[in-house]
Amino acid sequence: MMNTQVLISGAGPVGLVSALVLGQAGVSVTVLEAAASLSMDLRASTFHPPTLDMLARYGLTEKLISMGLVARYTQQRDRQEGVVAEFDMNLLQADVDHPFRLQCEQWKLTQLIKEQLDAMPHVKLLFSTQLDSVTQTADKVHASFSCEGESQAITADYMIGADGSRSATRRSQDIEFEGFTYPDRFLVISTDFEYADHLPKLSYVNYCSDPQEWCVLLRVPTLWRVLFPTKPEETDEQVMSDEAVQARLQNLLPQPQPYKTIHRTLYNVHQRVAKTFSRGRVFLAGDSAHINNPLGGMGMNGGVHDAMNLSLKLLQVIQEGQDASLLDRYERQRRTIAIEYINASTARNYREIEERDPVARKRTQDDLRATAADPVRAREYLRKTSMIDALERAEAIA
Ligand SMILES: Cc1cc2nc3c(=O)[nH]c(=O)nc-3n(C[C@H](O)[C@H](O)[C@H](O)COP(=O)(O)OP(=O)(O)OC[C@H]3O[C@@H](n4cnc5c(N)ncnc54)[C@H](O)[C@@H]3O)c2cc1C
Repeated sequence: MMNTQVLISGAGPVGLVSALVLGQAGVSVTVLEAAASLSMDLRASTFHPPTLDMLARYGLTEKLISMGLVARYTQQRDRQEGVVAEFDMNLLQADVDHPFRLQCEQWKLTQLIKEQLDAMPHVKLLFSTQLDSVTQTADKVHASFSCEGESQAITADYMIGADGSRSATRRSQDIEFEGFTYPDRFLVISTDFEYADHLPKLSYVNYCSDPQEWCVLLRVPTLWRVLFPTKPEETDEQVMSDEAVQARLQNLLPQPQPYKTIHRTLYNVHQRVAKTFSRGRVFLAGDSAHINNPLGGMGMNGGVHDAMNLSLKLLQVIQEGQDASLLDRYERQRRTIAIEYINASTARNYREIEERDPVARKRTQDDLRATAADPVRAREYLRKTSMIDALERAEAIA
């Protein structure tokens, strides 16, 4: 029977940040990862300023900056009229050490963390190993997992379920995932086409509203990523066909030649929060605890904030002898933020970007222009959209 102090299910950004914080402090950690290697999927690509501040304490931010693009400006655009409002993240200088968004693929973070974990003998990262079930006694967590068709068991003092939106940990604890799934799926296309040469004043992060078909244009070091909504009645095959992909791109910016596309991903979008983030010695963090639409880039960032909050509390309990009731504060803080900030802001971003009513569109655009033109209001706006307010609100929760 294997033993570990903290068992983590899932080697995504949330599981690995948790493993790093705990492992660097000397806690023995075992991470179970169902896949054969770390995911290289093009998923989240924005690091918000407070996330960069947190990761800097572990020597990760400088490395990520060298692998990414510093985005000082973000834009709200209108697909027909161009820039509506541009926000200068430098206004956050007094609030954070890194007053910018970093455009960098999430797989670069997990790879960098793995390099550090590989040098820690007390941290085990087991691939092709799938968590199957979890039970608890008063002082231990007992989990079973399968590896190469064989079932094995492990015992831990605490467990973090960071195994994504379909979390086996969450299911094992019978925790409801409350919320809804949007009827329309999102299509992300990446291309090496240089949009900045054709769309005037484009920044690295551009939210483009439109009453017919909104989109988001995001730069990562070698590619542009274009996110489109799709219609519920379109089948997967229709959406992903060359013809439909080219039609969407040509409609956004007509070009004489077809676009070269590098990736195409179609995915379901949800707003869901787990009914509870903890049950006894088992905790949920990241996508296993809350999922949201990607408008605002809060999924991975919010998950990293969960991982930091929970792991630092576990250290206080495991190493400093603090009472385990301290861990209840994790749920109070992070579930509140998932509902009040992450879910609320991303749902609002979706409503605003897809708004069809011309009066409501004009009101939103006028408000964005006035906000960007006033440095005090612009800073307030950026503190919200960069998740700084959310972290301060969490700190204020006892
Ligand atoms: C297509 C797509 C695009 C996205 N784009 C954005 C974006 O632009 N911006 C943004 O902020 N967010 C985006 N997200 C969301 C973002 O990627 C997630 O919020 C983030 O990955 C959450 O990290 P996590 O570690 O909680 O979960 P994950 O990254 O999902 O990691 C979970 C890990 O657990 C493993 N696992 C699952 N089940 C088991 C099991 N039973 N046993 C062991 N291991 C298991 C999985 O293999 C996986 O490696 C996107 C998500 C998707 C799917």
